Amino acid sequence: MKRIKILLITAAAIFVLSLAFCFWIIRPAQTNTVEIVQDGTTLYRFDLNNTENQQIEISYNGKVNTVLIENGKICITNADCPDNTCVHMGWLTAEGLPIVCLPNRLVIQYIQSGEADAAG
Ligand SMILES: [Zn+2]
Repeated sequence: MKRIKILLITAAAIFVLSLAFCFWIIRPAQTNTVEIVQDGTTLYRFDLNNTENQQIEISYNGKVNTVLIENGKICITNADCPDNTCVHMGWLTAEGLPIVCLPNRLVIQYIQSGEADAAG
């Protein structure tokens, strides 16, 4: 009877440990680094934890997107694009979609820690 109990506890422990291990493996790499990509080229890369509030103007064929970094967050506040979808997307979130301005070929997205390391 005692042996079965020990066996059960061991099995339960292994189960819990493997479950925790699985979560640890599949968890997304959390960084607070974002990159601003235009037409496939990375223009800026910011670690939002260490970036002071600022406003950046990025132009593409005479069209300007105004990007705002404030209190560790980033968004597009103004854009010379017909739809203004990028402005309406608001603040970029790690869980959410990247901010994209299709007409001006601009993407603002979080990068995974692995990519950040590879890029130095
Ligand atoms: Zn736009």
